[in-house]
Formats: sequence, C-alpha cells, structure tokens
Amino acid sequence: MVSLVHSAGLTGIDGRIVTVECFFSGGLPRLDIVGLPDKAVSEAGERVRAAVKSAGFDWPVSRLTVNLAPADMRKEGPVYDLPILLAVLAASGQIDPLPENAVFLGELSLTGALRPVAGALAMAMAARAAGCRTVYLPAENAAEAAYAQGITVHPVASVGQLLAHLTHGAPLPEAGPPPAPDEPAEPLDFAHVLGQENVKRALEIAAAGGHNVLLSGPPGSGKSMLAKRFPSILPPLSEDERLEVIRIWSAVGRGAEAARMAGRPIRAPHHTTAPQALAGGSGPGGRLPLPGDMSLAHNGVLFLDEFPEFRRDTLETLRQPLEDHVVSISRVAGRVTYPARFQLIAAMNPCKCGWYGTPRCTCRPEAVQKYLSRLSGPLLDRIDLQVAVRPVSYEALAARGTQAEEPSARIRERVRAARARQAARFAGSGVRCNADIPAARMADFCPLDPAAQAMLAAAFDRLGLTARAYDRLLRVARTVADLDGADVISAAHLAEALSYRAVDRALPG
Ligand SMILES: [Zn+2]
Repeated sequence: MVSLVHSAGLTGIDGRIVTVECFFSGGLPRLDIVGLPDKAVSEAGERVRAAVKSAGFDWPVSRLTVNLAPADMRKEGPVYDLPILLAVLAASGQIDPLPENAVFLGELSLTGALRPVAGALAMAMAARAAGCRTVYLPAENAAEAAYAQGITVHPVASVGQLLAHLTHGAPLPEAGPPPAPDEPAEPLDFAHVLGQENVKRALEIAAAGGHNVLLSGPPGSGKSMLAKRFPSILPPLSEDERLEVIRIWSAVGRGAEAARMAGRPIRAPHHTTAPQALAGGSGPGGRLPLPGDMSLAHNGVLFLDEFPEFRRDTLETLRQPLEDHVVSISRVAGRVTYPARFQLIAAMNPCKCGWYGTPRCTCRPEAVQKYLSRLSGPLLDRIDLQVAVRPVSYEALAARGTQAEEPSARIRERVRAARARQAARFAGSGVRCNADIPAARMADFCPLDPAAQAMLAAAFDRLGLTARAYDRLLRVARTVADLDGADVISAAHLAEALSYRAVDRALPG
C-alpha cells in the first residue's frame, strides 16, 4: 500500500510544499529515504521508529521506502520526522489515509514529543498558498504560524496527542490570532538622556527620512546609549513589515521570539564579527546559507559600534544592502537573496585613542588620518548624516531634574508626520523615503527656494562637494523641510543639513 502525506520545507526563507510518500517493497526490513535528503533527514528513521513505539503502534517488519517530492528540492533539517511517521503508519494500515488538505510538520524526540522547527511561518504560508486548510505543527511554532492567517493552525505537543485526534477525533487546540507584541521590559526612551540636543535632533531626522547615521565622539560620550534608543522614535512596524521580520527570524529558529518582539528589531554585532555572521552564512551540514545580522535587522536597525575596527571584508558586505536593500550570498550549496532593508547607525571614536580634538589625544596627525581612511568612500556615500557627539555638557548636568527631556513618543509623532508627507509625495514612484531618492529624481523631489539655491552653489564651491555628497545633502535637507512641514527647501533647512558632515570635514583632502 502507498500512503501520501503533505508537508512543507524551507529553501532560504521561502516555504514550499513537500509530499511524503511511503510504500512497502520486498526485502529485508529497513527504511530508505530518497528525494535529496540531507543528513538530518536521513537520520529521521531512528527518531521515527522510537516515536512510533512510544505512541503504542508497531513498526512494520518490512522494507519501507519514503520518497520526498519534488525531487529537485533539497530537503533539509528534521522537519519531515512527523510526516514520515504518519506516512509509515498509513502505509501499514494502522491509521486511515491522511486528509488531502492538511499539512504536517515537526521534529520528533525519541519519546514522541514534537520539537519546534525553523521556518514554520514560511511553511504555513506555503500551505495556505497551495490551498490547504489546516497545518499541524509543534506547539512552540504556533505563535509565529498564526501570522500566516487564513489557515487553521493546530499546535501539537506529541505524536500521541495527534494520533488520538486523527484516529478517534479527540479535540485538538487551535492557535489563536497572532499574539500582541510584548511591552518592552525596560523602555529605552530619549526622556532618560540628558542634553545631547544636536544628536537627538540628528536621530530624529534620520528616523524621519530613513537616513543612515554615523556618530563620532570620544569614549563615554553616550553614542551607544543614544543609538539604542533610536528604535523608540521609529514608527511601529506595519502588518506587512512584521510578517517579513518574523519570516526571516523564523528561518533561523527564532520565529516565536520575533512574533512577540516589541518594536523594531535592532542588531548590534561586535566589531570582531565575521562577514558570514553579518551577511549570512552556511547552515549546518552544507545547507543553504541562513540569514545573517543584516537580514535579522530588516525593517529595523543595524548598530555597528567601533565602526572603523570592523574587518574590511565585513564592512564590504554592507555595500550591496545599503544600495539595494537585499543581500545575495553564494555558497557551494546554492545562491540565496535575503531582504536587508535596515537603517545603519554606525559609531566611532574620532581617532585611535578616542580623544581627537581635545588635549588628551595622543595620536599623531598622520595616525588620525590613517584611522579615518579605514572608512571607504563608497560606504560613507551611503551614510547621509555624520554627527559629532560630545560628552554631556555642564549645563545639561546642572539642569538635571529641573527640566524634563522630551520623551520618545513626542519625537515619534513628528517622525510620523514627516513620513506621511513623504508617503504622499512618493505615491506611485517606488521611492519609500527621502534616503531612497535616486539621483535622477533629485530635481523633482527637492525643490529649493532662491536663497537655498545660492547657498548650495556657494557651499559646492567652498567645500568641494562630490556629486554623491551633494545628493546626500539634498536628501537630508528634504527631510529637515518635511519635519518643518515645508514643500520647498529653504536656506535654513539646507544650513542644518550642512551641519551633519562631521567626518567629511575631518577626512584627508
Ligand atoms: Zn587620539
């Protein structure tokens, strides 16, 4: 007898329906699994055999062949344990044929408990797209899979529980609606940051226009404290954005965490991180590369502290995502492209010792230039705002407790209004925010009044701006004008944009 069970697998971050067939053939008792299985799939036999016995069923004394289709897709990981078990029991007539419109997935422990799998959300979405009505999966995957919507999700704790449901109709719980995000345990809010008005303002502009930021300042000036509060002034994730985030996190087995994440993701890898960790690298056992930090930061923030200390090859991997908002990875196992639309907040000391510009600096001028030149031009070209961070001023310390700092929620309101202006302006153009304005559309989207035009012409000559630097300046000025509710960029808007060139000013030449 041949049995057929529907399941799903993962390629990169995309789910795909996989059918599991089992048939008996003559010969000595054994189990063969065919259809491009990796090692984890090939080892399913041991887990399935133990789980069958622990659920009180018999392992058939016969030669069994399990075929995973389609044949051209690599089958990775232990997600096929459960469908293989069901296919064996159905082929041996111990349970009825499985429903056509249901999908089963899950790893088995030797005791028959279901363990969570990576990529459950993408697989549930693939099941829905294929017209299936129901998905049975490990209980710990239920929260993320609930985001698939339009398909019934049954969280299953053990094989015994599922078989009781399939054979006797014992009730099985249904996953509820997608969970509400958690409240942040300890909210990071700009209300708790003394002074630093210029940096807060720059971060507000960055949030409003989607600009990348480079913070430069001595140790202890609060760069990382400020950067970590940046997500608190970003607009909340839209439904679609949240779904994208969970799908990516799900592929690395962290879907449940992402489903409950408060606010936007923020990733802060250490400067010793390898290119594969940032861009995405090979999974275990020569599998397709998994998403790295740049993709886990998708729709959120990538914070790189000690920016010039990163390996050059690690920094190189940033270039494509900063330009195209995706990251492509080629490995022996194949080529994948993952979303990577993040806002970059980079932070650095102004020199090796950290105290350039103060009497404490011990660096020779050549050493300072050499340190700064580690930041390649193409990378700096994608960072619209460069901000000098200074240690908190005496005035701010003295005023502590007497004047309230502005809370993040108020800043976020202005950000939201500026984003709404951009959405209206860019409707139908394919541009999402000011940071994305292509060079060719600069004139359409960034009109200047006569005074601003004169100022720009003078600045261009005086500062020796490159074409790229000129575009960066206009994008920032556009956002400053949007925060001001203005359609046309004025000299005041442009002057403020010109003040965010702290690193360019210090660079050689
Ligand atoms: Zn120094």
